[in-house]
Amino acid sequence: KHIFVTGGVVSSLGKGITTASLAFLLSRRGYRVGLQKLDPYINVDPGTMSPYQHGEVYVTDDGSETDLDLGHYERFAGVPCRKASNYTTGSIYSAVIARERQGGYLGKTVQVIPHITDEIKAGIRSMDTGEFDIIITEIGGTAGDIESLPFLEAIRQFRQEIGRQNGLFIHLTLLPYIKAAGEMKTKPSQQSVGILREIGIIPDILVCRCERPMLKEHRDKLALFCNVNPELVFEECDVKHSIYEVPLDLAKQDADIYVLELLNLHVGTLKMDDWKKMVRTFIAPDHGTVKIAVVGKYMSLRDAYKSIFESLTHGGIDNSVRVEVLYVEAEDIEKDGVERYLKEADGVLVPGGFGSRGIEGKIEAIRYARENGIPFLGICLGMQCAVVEYSRNVLGLKKANSSEFDAKSPDPVIHLMEEQKGIEDKGGTMRLGAYPCDLAEQSKARQLYSAAKISERHRHRYEFNIAYLEKLAEKGMDAVGLSPSGELVEIVEVPSHPWFVACQFHPEFKSTPLSSHPLFRGFVGAALVHLEGAQAPKKKAGKAESPAG
Ligand code: GLN
Repeated sequence: KHIFVTGGVVSSLGKGITTASLAFLLSRRGYRVGLQKLDPYINVDPGTMSPYQHGEVYVTDDGSETDLDLGHYERFAGVPCRKASNYTTGSIYSAVIARERQGGYLGKTVQVIPHITDEIKAGIRSMDTGEFDIIITEIGGTAGDIESLPFLEAIRQFRQEIGRQNGLFIHLTLLPYIKAAGEMKTKPSQQSVGILREIGIIPDILVCRCERPMLKEHRDKLALFCNVNPELVFEECDVKHSIYEVPLDLAKQDADIYVLELLNLHVGTLKMDDWKKMVRTFIAPDHGTVKIAVVGKYMSLRDAYKSIFESLTHGGIDNSVRVEVLYVEAEDIEKDGVERYLKEADGVLVPGGFGSRGIEGKIEAIRYARENGIPFLGICLGMQCAVVEYSRNVLGLKKANSSEFDAKSPDPVIHLMEEQKGIEDKGGTMRLGAYPCDLAEQSKARQLYSAAKISERHRHRYEFNIAYLEKLAEKGMDAVGLSPSGELVEIVEVPSHPWFVACQFHPEFKSTPLSSHPLFRGFVGAALVHLEGAQAPKKKAGKAESPAG
């Protein structure tokens, strides 16, 4: 059974969250749900796009660089995504053009219909491996975009082929509230459904995003003009506290029951007490609020670090504490000094990134966290900066750097892997996807994971330079996570610091609200200990002892 989710009126309506929420509800009624996103842009994947354009690039176990909505899919529905979970216009056209060059079309004129639409349909079918009962496919963009047309045509054909009982169209749309008139308007949604109708798609279900509750008159009007049963017009009001409330709101309206009935599927019982409990803990945690400074370079765009912020939230839920993020631009630290931005932080996180802008600010933030005993979590570039900081300020290698930022550094403590040298193509050529890692017995990581072997997702070109491993260990920075061959350093810790852990991989891609990632749980827990320490009556004011001595 297939469900297709399209969007209307404007972008950023939360189609990914709606899709993920529906997947969650159907999975909690006992169905195996697969999720997929079709993106109409021409890039082959989002791997080469700036975070300002696209937000975070989400990486799957099989090493695909994908849309950040796949992160919602994994977090809500717990279904691991893969290459087939994300196609773009670029990837579809590349496949068709490659086949044409090989003579695969036997002399025919290659056209959008049927060749491109066939390729899109093959992409949808590639999810149909027998593992899932229901496959939900979200179409990126907004009805009316030029780029979306082949995708909409493909899903129209697809549903025609599988029949009404096996395929559903859900349209997510906006009901804007016009303040001056004091009214909520249905016209843009009518027009958006009109655009879909022109290409032969009549939505079975409308989900209406709105700031205020919808009235009966709105529902009736939409039903009449859009040719939809009024019972199948759902409201999705802005949530009060958390995106994790969306499934609960949809369940209150029995949206999942209607979907199953339309697909002629048995309606099992909905089990989601654990989810409700998780939302309650988020809204009213037992402890106060910890402040976590995230020091990055795209802080004005929340989507750029989506999974990081979500994972912090998860760590907060598991520690029953609210996490307040302090958004710190690394370059501001360079301009104004570190104290001003980090003095209130109970934890400091330096996330991944590329390019030299803001690097010195990140290194300074790490020094401050290390010298003041503030819990620190470094991720990917954050780990690389932590190694550079330690090398400079503890080992005394003043010019230590990553060769990404200073190709001539006499101490390239982070350097390019041999396999990466000579690679010029930028797309899909980094160390990508899941790699195994062995954890040292006495480490914080080992304790937190409760496992000796783990697997985590990577996305980087540069690596810890193993030539410096012993020198760093002598001075108190230990490589506690190694690749099975022992050649790649995946985690470093400073055991003399209250909580200083940095990893080369991206733990944020595997955290979920019901099961926070061990490193985020540990980090937020350590921040809570830090906060409680700061609140306890002080014996003597002053800095915590620096692990550097
Ligand atoms: N720029 C660094 C590298 O390529 C780190 C990448 C990242 O943080 N994802 O190795």
